[in-house]
Amino acid sequence: MAGDGETREMGTIAVTGANRGIGAAIAATLADRGYTVACLSRGGAAPSTDEGGAKVVGRRIGLRCDITDCASIAAALAAADALPGGLRGVVNNAGIMMSGASREFPVENLETVLRTNVVGTFSVCQAAYPRLVARGGGLIVNIGSFWDEMGVKRFAAYCASKAAIAALSRCLGVEWAKKGIRVLTVAPGYIETDMTSDALETEETRRYLETRLPLGRVGRPDEIARVVAALFLEDVGFLTATTIYVDGGQGPAM
Ligand code: NDP
Repeated sequence: MAGDGETREMGTIAVTGANRGIGAAIAATLADRGYTVACLSRGGAAPSTDEGGAKVVGRRIGLRCDITDCASIAAALAAADALPGGLRGVVNNAGIMMSGASREFPVENLETVLRTNVVGTFSVCQAAYPRLVARGGGLIVNIGSFWDEMGVKRFAAYCASKAAIAALSRCLGVEWAKKGIRVLTVAPGYIETDMTSDALETEETRRYLETRLPLGRVGRPDEIARVVAALFLEDVGFLTATTIYVDGGQGPAM
């Protein structure tokens, strides 16, 4: 368990969309492991609950950040970099999902999904770049999806955005390797959060998924968070520009 001194030495990780769901679990777990966590969210408050049951001993500082607004990103990352140990890494978790029949899906909705999930993630990476370079490197984890290589009816916009996230991590990981910046995608399977609650709350869907999922259950936010925390803690220098699937075997099984 990390004390105050260790927390400072480990530095600060910025997590976008840290106010709820998977982002809140990632923030809680990183703080539990001793990092200072800059919890970026549109509301700006630090998460009030510890999702996933993680016992938080580190610090979580709430900062306002809308990832579709470059000025907001710049201000949040400057504030994060001023926290103990400086900015050592970023988790691009914030994202949205919109669905509908592609024959009539409004192009504006496609733009909204790509603007948030792809342009937003890229903008945060770009803003973090000089700060990580100044500290000798760091790790960026982008949250993708196991749908990134799948054809899913009614989810063309979301699937395209997550395929783009995987491509961004590959390209930035290659482009920034010599600067000591590693870039990875962590691609979750179905995780129980607000994003999936509507679909998962119907008994019919839940029963359908239970028969299709190798483990017979969907995942929990803390199961994604613990993988992300391990990537920061283990700091494996040779691991970059790739996607790590955390989907309970759902991808291979479908
Ligand atoms: P939630 O809907 O529970 O949370 C989404 C988070 O993103 C919220 O904190 C939300 O903030 C934030 N967000 C959305 N738009 C913006 C923005 N413009 N600026 C800043 N923050 C924003 O989703 P999950 O926790 O389930 O998802 C987290 C990530 O994991 C997403 O990228 C999602 O695509 C991915 N994922 C989720 C899966 C699942 O099954 N749940 C499966 C695979 C991937 P606010 O509260 O302000 O709306």
